Amino acid sequence: MNYRSFFLGFACCIALVAVALKVKPYCRFIKTSYRVEKENFPLLHDAIYPFSLPPLAYAYEALEPHIDARTLEIHRMQHHKTAIDNLNNALKKFPTHQHKTLIQLLENSNALPDALRDAVRTFGGSHFDHTLYFAGMSPQGGGEPAGAIAELLHKKFGSFTTFKAKFETAATSLVGSGWVWLCLDKKNVLHIHTTIKYDTPFTLNYFPLLILDVWEHAYYLKYQSKRLNYLQAWWNVVDWRHVEKLFTHATHK
Ligand code: MN
Repeated sequence: MNYRSFFLGFACCIALVAVALKVKPYCRFIKTSYRVEKENFPLLHDAIYPFSLPPLAYAYEALEPHIDARTLEIHRMQHHKTAIDNLNNALKKFPTHQHKTLIQLLENSNALPDALRDAVRTFGGSHFDHTLYFAGMSPQGGGEPAGAIAELLHKKFGSFTTFKAKFETAATSLVGSGWVWLCLDKKNVLHIHTTIKYDTPFTLNYFPLLILDVWEHAYYLKYQSKRLNYLQAWWNVVDWRHVEKLFTHATHK
């Protein structure tokens, strides 16, 4: 090998490394940005600062006896609303970020100024999580899902009963406050996933379909420390039609 071909080879290696380093962040961006369309989260998608409490599709007492009216009202009017107020207060000082939707803020929270990032992740995350939680319940809920989502549940977990058992284990073994999710990945595989505090699956390659709030404020008045009893009652109000709708839009080509 002469010097000329040695230096040419060396230069090519350097160039390849440089290209790989340059491309890597874009690969990561593409990998983590799944489809989020207006229809997926109709209560959230268009909303920008100042955010407001989304309407509830049912009356507070409509989920009785499984979820009691008082818990639901306090949950929505105090916990959820306070998160939205705090998010608005944080955004008040950042006019350049006020045109962004909640999903845009959450998906790109890494790029936000330090003083705004934590508020978005905590209060914005809470706003997203609670919106999906309330929308995922219905007085006509319960039963089992149908169609493609049912097939995927069977494929991944063997049966709906096994899925429920695994979801319950995830919920009861979560230490402290958090959420249990049923998510879909890019390969159309379902996952049970847990997050603590107000984290969202936006940093993962997951699309959220169903979410359970296991913060004590979601069940303590009626169920006290019996989280499993709350969870078993919650299955009776899970709106599988809503999950199917999210699934259809997430997988729509
Ligand atoms: Mn909550």
